[in-house]
Amino acid sequence: MATEQFDVLIVGAGLSGIGAAYRLQTLCPGKRYAILEGRADIGGTWDLFRYPGLRSDSDMFTLGYPFRPWQAAKAIADGASILQYIKDTAREFAIDQHIRFKQMVKSAAWSSHDALWTVQVQHPESGALTTYRGKFLYVCSGYYDYAGGYSPEFPGSEQFKGQLVHPQQWPENLDYTDKNVVVIGSGATAVTLVPAMAEQARQVTMLQRSPSYIASLPATDVVADFLRKHLSEGRAHSLARWKNVLLTLGFFQFCRRAPNLARKLLRFGVKRELPAGYAVDTHFNPQYQPWDQRLCAVPNGDLFKALKSGKAQMVTEQIDTLTETGIRLRSGQELAADVIVTATGLKLQACGGMSIDVDGVPVQIGDTLAYKGMMLSNVPNFALCVGYTNASWTLRSDLASRYICRVLNYMDENGYKMCVARHVARSVAKRPLLDMTAGYVLRAADALPKQGPGAPWQMKQNYILDLFNLRYSALEDGTLTFRHDPALGMAPRVVERAASAA
Ligand SMILES: Cc1cc2nc3c(=O)[nH]c(=O)nc-3n(C[C@H](O)[C@H](O)[C@H](O)COP(=O)(O)OP(=O)(O)OC[C@H]3O[C@@H](n4cnc5c(N)ncnc54)[C@H](O)[C@@H]3O)c2cc1C
Repeated sequence: MATEQFDVLIVGAGLSGIGAAYRLQTLCPGKRYAILEGRADIGGTWDLFRYPGLRSDSDMFTLGYPFRPWQAAKAIADGASILQYIKDTAREFAIDQHIRFKQMVKSAAWSSHDALWTVQVQHPESGALTTYRGKFLYVCSGYYDYAGGYSPEFPGSEQFKGQLVHPQQWPENLDYTDKNVVVIGSGATAVTLVPAMAEQARQVTMLQRSPSYIASLPATDVVADFLRKHLSEGRAHSLARWKNVLLTLGFFQFCRRAPNLARKLLRFGVKRELPAGYAVDTHFNPQYQPWDQRLCAVPNGDLFKALKSGKAQMVTEQIDTLTETGIRLRSGQELAADVIVTATGLKLQACGGMSIDVDGVPVQIGDTLAYKGMMLSNVPNFALCVGYTNASWTLRSDLASRYICRVLNYMDENGYKMCVARHVARSVAKRPLLDMTAGYVLRAADALPKQGPGAPWQMKQNYILDLFNLRYSALEDGTLTFRHDPALGMAPRVVERAASAA
């Protein structure tokens, strides 16, 4: 079969990939594109995760697309509604017709001679290999490994007679009615699971090694509801979005500039939700500063309500061993468990696990620097879509997609075939692209692209700065380099000029 060739190959049909396709077909209408998706359906995260209570912890005015208003009542939405929204978007704009399902990208090889990517994909069931070619590769593969989550080896796990479950692989018919459940973890997944499971279980224990910051947020947005009543859908969505952008950004900046005050405020918020005498400092007072790790939001204080009802409890302790009937803690306390959920995190993965080479030379993704948080240094016609960690993912992923469309249009207008963010090898202070101290980021730090010490190699966690930088800044900035003739390789433009003079 002849190898199909496209102007743009998008990897991944999740929230970002569908958004990227929308931007591409509206801002670069002539481009032929395909979305290569490894799974059998649209939605990525929102299709993969099926645990009870799955929901966003961002509001949908910012997690949703700016071009398609969020209409449902709840601003913090359940997973099924988010999935439906992504699917409806794909259908409404005929993006679904461009998706090739069960096409897991394994490798991508750039040839400067042809100014093309050759992308090898594998069918996850048959193992059949297919090749696609593309002039530009836009990787919207999310940030974690779909094959499985992170689960540390707990001593004694082989003796445990109950069910051990990871939220990323939730058994379809798991019945925990009237059972004792222990959820190990302290992050967004754990705080979602505990109140949701407490509705049916006999008792749910959230067992954490150390606390996280947790804040209660209203599930509905009264301002957005007011705007929706009085304005057109599009206008109301846009105003609600800006309100939430400014509130989130303002609170993040406040946490960064006045961490001690922010800590007190968050503690006060938790204390107010819990009965007098509750051990707030044991369970809700983290060792790190607010926003050094992602803040967990609980809609309408559902976690606190479950704790107050007595159906759920918090335990902040180290595990000694799993036993036949539950968990023994280092203090000697035993937690009875029929079901243990290891909400211990994700395994981060860059570029969907694919290998990349440029003109036959393998690229070590962990050694690359990310230009404007999206293009890997010295990797031509390539971008990676990464969202914010301190705000809704889509705010940044949408800006990134619009930026890539600017680059593509600029290349067409000027007859360029290649663009590359050039970085001349010299040692610079590097830190991971996802700049957080959370365990899951630190575990994968070596494999992730890096940020450099300053612009343009830094990823700002600031929507307003990014908006100006990505929408309006000059494209040719001395780092992002364009070529008419990629066959001349990646040497500086001087070489190109010298060659044409010869
Ligand atoms: C449980 C959970 C809750 C979250 N809640 C929030 C929230 O409230 N707010 C927020 O901002 N963020 C949240 N996030 C982060 C979330 O992942 C992003 O919001 C968003 O869904 C990311 O979209 P994406 O399309 O970039 O990635 P994903 O949703 O991960 O989709 C990536 C797609 O790429 C495909 N893919 C990956 N590798 C390959 C490959 N090699 N070949 C082919 N296809 C491939 C995958 O199959 C998938 O369909 C949450 C994450 C999780 C896990």
